Amino acid sequence: MRKIVSKLKFLLFVLILTSCQNNQKSNEINIYSQRHYAVDELQYENFTKETGIKVNVTKANADELIQRMKIEGSSSPADLFITVDVGKLWQAGDMDLLQKIKDETITAGIDSEFLDPNNYWIPLTYRSRVVVFSKERVDVNDLSTYEDLASEKWKNRLLIRSSSNSYNQALMSSLIANLGSDVAEDWSTKIVSNLAREPKGNDRDQVKAIASGQGDIAVVNSYYIGLLLSSEKEEELKAGNSVGVFFPNQAENQRGAHINVSGIALTKNAPNRENAIKLISFLTSKSAQQTYVNNTYEYSVNSSVEPNEIVKNWGDFKKDKLDLNMLGVKRNEAIRIFDKTGWK
Ligand code: FE
Repeated sequence: MRKIVSKLKFLLFVLILTSCQNNQKSNEINIYSQRHYAVDELQYENFTKETGIKVNVTKANADELIQRMKIEGSSSPADLFITVDVGKLWQAGDMDLLQKIKDETITAGIDSEFLDPNNYWIPLTYRSRVVVFSKERVDVNDLSTYEDLASEKWKNRLLIRSSSNSYNQALMSSLIANLGSDVAEDWSTKIVSNLAREPKGNDRDQVKAIASGQGDIAVVNSYYIGLLLSSEKEEELKAGNSVGVFFPNQAENQRGAHINVSGIALTKNAPNRENAIKLISFLTSKSAQQTYVNNTYEYSVNSSVEPNEIVKNWGDFKKDKLDLNMLGVKRNEAIRIFDKTGWK
């Protein structure tokens, strides 16, 4: 009898312990994130203060995180997947790693042009991949389109990072979707022959290379110029000030500048689904959108949230209206073209 009582006590203890753990579990969320900006920690801290929900973040590149979710399957702890490239969100959805989100309280505050027609992801911010040019050595009137970067006049003057980078893969995907593979391939060949040096470094490094005279124009994400211009490091400020920002393809008959979305998606199994939805709701709220634009110099997906002053100075621009999912759909073709044309 005594043995039975002690066994029962033990069982009760285990039950209490697991229910405590369950409670604890329900007050957390786990994010797999490709974003690499300091403002994100601030957003999560503010969210925890408001809701009491603890946020755990695993950072890696999107391909690694997708692989991890695939291997972990239904036992994955991830509730949310965040990327800086909508192509990777499309890919995760295509691989059946996500569940759809249909929540009008979230989407009501977001401009419809940024929403996923398939409801697999929610946009957090957007950015344009712009051309920056040396204020000293380039006449802005010589700039026009992405296509024109293939022109002879930019021979040995163009700077751009490696083709393994998802920002470049998204840009190439947009060219394929808009102009077709043959035109995109020809463009890529000519871009490679115009390079001032072999692709190396990140977007900021391309701007620094203009400042030091290694090249005259570069293709970079818009917010990096904001980050350089607001930097406390003299070298970065100097680099930011050495260039002008140009939005390509703006003429009336042209499609507009390429944009990409940094977005968030709910994973297929999301153990803490309710809390995850609360975070999405928080990050797309007006106040969190304001925090993004003022710290990362990205654009808000809510048009009532104005860009930071530095970004406003570059003026409004026409955006390429391509279905954003095309940036994922055309990805393998983009990589094939990069490889074939020797873009390292
Ligand atoms: Fe970035």
